[in-house]
Amino acid sequence: MHEPGSANVLNQDPPAYGSDSRSPDDYQNVQSYQLGVGPVTMKCPRCRKLITTSVAHKAGLAAWLACLGLTLMVCWPCYLIPFCLDDLLDVIHSCPACGVVIGTYPRL
Ligand SMILES: [Zn+2]
Repeated sequence: MHEPGSANVLNQDPPAYGSDSRSPDDYQNVQSYQLGVGPVTMKCPRCRKLITTSVAHKAGLAAWLACLGLTLMVCWPCYLIPFCLDDLLDVIHSCPACGVVIGTYPRL
């Protein structure tokens, strides 16, 4: 027989609302999304629609470091190469519906 009244409540962490000093902005949650190099299907934190992120590439730290290395070690015209290689560019995910930038997948 089961014992009534002995509800086994799991020891859950209290919700981090209220005294949380961080901004309650929903955009704080974007870090938890699994962003990758390709489009991701997710719920937009701003318009709440189920969307597939549109991706754009931007020169990030990896591209600038490669640029610097090529400029110093090879020859200066090569400095443009990293900006042509998608593998070195940060991936920016944005919502196609409302246009908000959801997050960035950095290469470094
Ligand atoms: Zn949106």
